[in-house]
Amino acid sequence: MSEVILSVIGTAQDGGLPQANCFCENCKRAMEDPRFKRTAASLAIILPEENKWHLIDATPDLREQMARVQMRYAMESKLMSSIFLTHAHIGHYPGLMFLGKEAINSHQLPVMAGAKMKKMLENDAPWSQLTALENIDVQEIKEGQSVTVTSEVTVTPVLVPHRNEFSETFAYWIEGPNKKVLFIPDIDRWDEWDVDIKEAAKEANICILDGTFYSSQELANIGRDFREVPHPLITETMELLGDLVEETKIYFTHLNHSNPVLKKDGTLRKEIEAKGFYIADEQMELKI
Ligand SMILES: [Zn+2]
Ligand SMILES: [Zn+2]
Ligand SMILES: [Zn+2]
Repeated sequence: MSEVILSVIGTAQDGGLPQANCFCENCKRAMEDPRFKRTAASLAIILPEENKWHLIDATPDLREQMARVQMRYAMESKLMSSIFLTHAHIGHYPGLMFLGKEAINSHQLPVMAGAKMKKMLENDAPWSQLTALENIDVQEIKEGQSVTVTSEVTVTPVLVPHRNEFSETFAYWIEGPNKKVLFIPDIDRWDEWDVDIKEAAKEANICILDGTFYSSQELANIGRDFREVPHPLITETMELLGDLVEETKIYFTHLNHSNPVLKKDGTLRKEIEAKGFYIADEQMELKI
């Protein structure tokens, strides 16, 4: 069996940490000390023996995320072999722009996307230039249909409910030779999904889930009503999946800059860990 590493290369909500024009406590700390910076949620599948890697979501932080992958795994100047996209929100696909002629100028790099996302990339400027110049080759993937990445790794899209203005939204099952991972960076509500998250989490060895907001109190603090925010709260997810933490490792990612789990004193983080859940960190590695 070959070694397969799932590298967690970004853990913030679309706007990153610090978020532009925000001077909240979490953002200020990240501006002052780069160790607290977080980049938009993304994963890399690293295949060290083949000297190859694949990317899940092309974030606005792609430049930095790519450099870290290439340096850490000794793949300097080695482009990713493919990119899987979740959906058309600003934290998840604009990194494609770096593949264009202004920068990398890649040639037919495979980009896996749902039918609507494919249509947008091929027809709408400025993305359409990437296909017109053959920088990328967009390939349609379908719910439930596994894509073989190597003989030992598959990636399978599953549709999730999310404000789908420009595209459908996918979550991904990522199966390595040893572990099955469920990655859901964005979902509106668990009860709006036609899959039972409890059953799905049971089937997974590792879940990396939407942890955008912690609690209704956090949202009240930033002047939002939790009933109108299309993300499950960490507190709700912990209640729902609390029985499963012995069998499944559950990480929260896609953290909003306002999220109190990012606070300096770390007490909330410790409380979450005491309940058997984890907060995903930048550069975290999972052997799958
Ligand atoms: Zn997002
Ligand atoms: Zn902030
Ligand atoms: Zn989104």
